[in-house]
Amino acid sequence: MSYQYTVIGAGLAGASAARLLADKGNKVLVLEKLPHIGGSTYDFTDDSGVLIHKYGPHIFHTSDKEVYDFLVRFTDFNGYQHKVAAKIGEDYCAVPFNIESVSKVYGKEKAGEILSEAKKAGAFPTVSVLKLMQSDSPLLKELGEYVYNNIFLFYTMKQWGKSPAEIDPATTERVPVRFSEDDRYFSDTYQGLPVNGYTEMISKMLDSENITVKTGVNVDVKVIENKIYLSGTPLDGKLVYTGETDRLFGYCYGRLPYRTLDFEFETHNTDSYQPYATVNYTVSEKFTRITEFKKMTLQKINGVTTIMKEYSKEFTGKDGEIPYYPVISDESRRQYAEYKALSDKMPQLILAGRLADFRYYNMDAVVRRVMDVIAAETDGE
Ligand SMILES: Cc1cc2nc3c(=O)[nH]c(=O)nc-3n(C[C@H](O)[C@H](O)[C@H](O)COP(=O)(O)OP(=O)(O)OC[C@H]3O[C@@H](n4cnc5c(N)ncnc54)[C@H](O)[C@@H]3O)c2cc1C
Repeated sequence: MSYQYTVIGAGLAGASAARLLADKGNKVLVLEKLPHIGGSTYDFTDDSGVLIHKYGPHIFHTSDKEVYDFLVRFTDFNGYQHKVAAKIGEDYCAVPFNIESVSKVYGKEKAGEILSEAKKAGAFPTVSVLKLMQSDSPLLKELGEYVYNNIFLFYTMKQWGKSPAEIDPATTERVPVRFSEDDRYFSDTYQGLPVNGYTEMISKMLDSENITVKTGVNVDVKVIENKIYLSGTPLDGKLVYTGETDRLFGYCYGRLPYRTLDFEFETHNTDSYQPYATVNYTVSEKFTRITEFKKMTLQKINGVTTIMKEYSKEFTGKDGEIPYYPVISDESRRQYAEYKALSDKMPQLILAGRLADFRYYNMDAVVRRVMDVIAAETDGE
């Protein structure tokens, strides 16, 4: 059987690309090295009957209607709107920090004063932590410093393996404080999790007579003189590659830097483990956060719950380690651009996805990226 397209990776990028190509009448072969489809979004029911996300909690959110319309062909979403809290002492404070969190920390009276200062300073309803820290108002400055030290600093150190001195306060430019009661983590138009999970959604996406899927196949993809070889055989047709770009080119410009994660799952015989689906540990503990899956999947199951603790560490490329978060810096951007320049010389190769593009994409951004790439590819078909 010959295929017009071979897709490496059955994550969201690979599955979306395969489906969009198949819908245009192309025969597509999808090869995945893991024993399952879904990539990072893979979910399954554990031994206690709880639906869990093997590679970290995934909450879908987007304001991109075309992306949403594409995905609802394969699933309904459960409408869950994500809420996150930081555990500081015994208190749970909403993240992003909101007016209720301000009241918890400072008491109602002082929170009222802070709110009127914020209104006077034009910092209402949302302002960045950086702006608060630079404010002329001592009250707003104090609040900014509190949020920087108790919500941002230690969490960022754990997540990125940095010391306080290495963390530039300017990175708080995008960290908001809300002087409203909005306690949602995202404000996108469409939010939720697939009602029967991501694995089922992706399985439906791949369910087309034009698509063949093979899992558990670790393909050695090599580029020799701008030609692609799959485990030693020259490839006919085109390749959509969603794996690591540095690996594809034999690390000729060195390894791209990533953070990897260790996950610890625990099942507890209780209805509820914590008040929020995700609790960030911003002043204590070695793990960054605890997620309780039932609270986001909205699964109805009594007397049992499964939680997951996440530990972030440097990706070394050791067997079994998965690169999760690209470490973006001027140096790694420059390094990636060198790999990209090699791929640009190869009309047979299409790069798309979080690893292939060396970008932190949310799920909607990955689907958008694939839609754009495949539209350009199939233009006129
Ligand atoms: C911990 C964590 C939490 C996240 N939470 C959210 C969230 O809440 N909301 C959100 O929108 N986004 C979230 N994301 C981002 C989301 O996971 C990604 O946008 C999306 O899953 C990327 O899909 P992808 O197909 O590009 O990559 P992946 O899912 O990594 O898929 C790539 C696939 O390619 C396979 N592969 C690679 N090389 C080969 C090879 N040589 N042969 C065969 N197969 C190969 C891999 O095994 C993998 O299955 C999160 C990411 C992480 C790391």
